[in-house]
Amino acid sequence: MPEIKVLPEDVVSKIAAGEVIERPASVLKELIENSLDAGASKIEIEIKKAGRGLIRVHDDGRGMDREDLRLALGRHATSKLSVFDDLYSLATFGFRGEALYSVFAVSRLKLTSFKAGADSGYSIEGEGGRVIADLPAAPVKGTTIEAADLFFNTPARAKFMKSDAAERSHLIKTVEEAALANAGVSFRLVIDGAELLNLPALPGGLWENLKNRAAAIFGKSVYAGLARVEGKTPGMAVYGLVSRPDALGATRANQHYFVNRRPVSSALLRQALYRGYGHMLTGRHPACAVFIELDPGAFDANIHPQKRDVKFSSENEIFKTVSNTVHEELLKKQTAAVAMAAPEAGRQFTAPDVPAYREAAAPPAPAAEAPGLFEAPTAHPHGGLQPVAADWRASDLSYLGQLAKSYLLFESDGGLLVVDQHAAQERVLFEKYLDEFSRGAVKVQPLLVPLEAELSRSQMETVLKWRDWMKSAGFEIDQRGPAVALLRAAPALFYFSQPAFAEFLGYLSEVLGEPERAAEEIKRNVIATMACKKSIKAHDFVKPQEALRLMDDLRRTKDSYHCPHGRPTLFHLSGVDIARRFQRGSAA
Ligand code: ADP
Ligand code: MG
Repeated sequence: MPEIKVLPEDVVSKIAAGEVIERPASVLKELIENSLDAGASKIEIEIKKAGRGLIRVHDDGRGMDREDLRLALGRHATSKLSVFDDLYSLATFGFRGEALYSVFAVSRLKLTSFKAGADSGYSIEGEGGRVIADLPAAPVKGTTIEAADLFFNTPARAKFMKSDAAERSHLIKTVEEAALANAGVSFRLVIDGAELLNLPALPGGLWENLKNRAAAIFGKSVYAGLARVEGKTPGMAVYGLVSRPDALGATRANQHYFVNRRPVSSALLRQALYRGYGHMLTGRHPACAVFIELDPGAFDANIHPQKRDVKFSSENEIFKTVSNTVHEELLKKQTAAVAMAAPEAGRQFTAPDVPAYREAAAPPAPAAEAPGLFEAPTAHPHGGLQPVAADWRASDLSYLGQLAKSYLLFESDGGLLVVDQHAAQERVLFEKYLDEFSRGAVKVQPLLVPLEAELSRSQMETVLKWRDWMKSAGFEIDQRGPAVALLRAAPALFYFSQPAFAEFLGYLSEVLGEPERAAEEIKRNVIATMACKKSIKAHDFVKPQEALRLMDDLRRTKDSYHCPHGRPTLFHLSGVDIARRFQRGSAA
């Protein structure tokens, strides 16, 4: 008996399906691409039960006749490629003829289509790869494909599905990417009866439509920080929208890269973009929709089952063109922005969030000029005749005053104690809040006027997943409309401005992931850190009693030397250090 067997067709089809169809969003991506390949100008999408119940895509494209419909379901059935070399000159999204075959293998599928000139529309229905019915249908222009009960016959795969909310956010992202890349096509997305996206294509040209899309998809606040970039080298064009250096975000969410309008994940493109920002980046991340147009022969989209990776034939050229284009355009804009911002320059030390480009443009602060000064006493070299900096908590403080509305100065132990007011306040708030939280006693303050945050649809999905947990953390969040979150109550310790709340929520929705996954302590630390950072004090000026009270509070914290982000809260310049500066020798 031979041990090698040829696998039966239905097993083969499920294996193939596993590569192309990883999750509901992969089905949706393939169906949208087919509609685009069919020349659709309008694509309507309906989703039920996070895509497991139903994924329905209706387009007004060129349609299929009865014969095409039957052929379309077969493996390697494609109208887009006939000889291998065509693979390198294709302008269509599909070419492998695997998508419908794969979807058919793992769902109950119904295709309805009408092709101009045919005597009637046709509809074909089946499940798990077997055709059940084939009937005439109404002559409605275009094609409708409905994939129901996804993975009904592959329970093992169904188990790998994430939560509904996670699958929904992948589905939404798929439509968002298609809509960014095909700004001339109308998109509408309805999930469980609610319209999440309605993006008509207006007669305004590429940039107009791209801007409208970006505003709808990124949300107004991210959109407001975007700048247009555009560049060309022989054989290649780059264009798109990227964050201005003063409008960077906390994470990499909202980054979209496209090669010939195909969404790709490409470390090369991301690195090229980042290089374009150079020193302006300061650890933060741009939002972007970057489009690369290349000759189809200059890259290979066939190296990944879901065509998400691409291989470029001339990586260096692409890297250089992208980074130079971004860099030059940003520099132009930065010069304009600095010129406009100049009268404000004196305010930069009191502004809670100094725009990154001004920070970067200023000469670096001589932070580490005197080594050791910025370290906590525990890190000081102890021993010998070296004067040991005393623990500030043990000494009396007398308040000397405030510097640049940012630093508090105290006489302490015969030396000078310099405290970063915001960092100290953050540390105090952070520990007070975590303490209340761990005792289950977060004091909550309802807001008379709720604060609004406009989010992207996928961020909104994440926020909704976290709503219950956020409530236990003292934040009462509601939804208004598909993409506006409302803050109705917050921990009494915090005070948020409207933009700060929007940033806080945007950041959380990007870093938190799945509520049930993360450890409770990590979740608490993340929310406490972010809330402290975004919660600004009502005024920067501090009265002497307030300064001393802050120091009392700080004295009681577990780590009075660092803010929750790890920056120092204070340093001590001893009498000896000061004397040395005046060359008075080592006598204190
Ligand atoms: P591919 O897109 O790689 O060719 P698919 O399995 O996705 O393979 O589709 C098979 C074929 O079915 C396509 O080549 C196309 O001719 C036809 N087809 C699929 N979807 C549509 C649609 N929405 N409108 C018109 N034709 C379609
Ligand atoms: Mg296809």
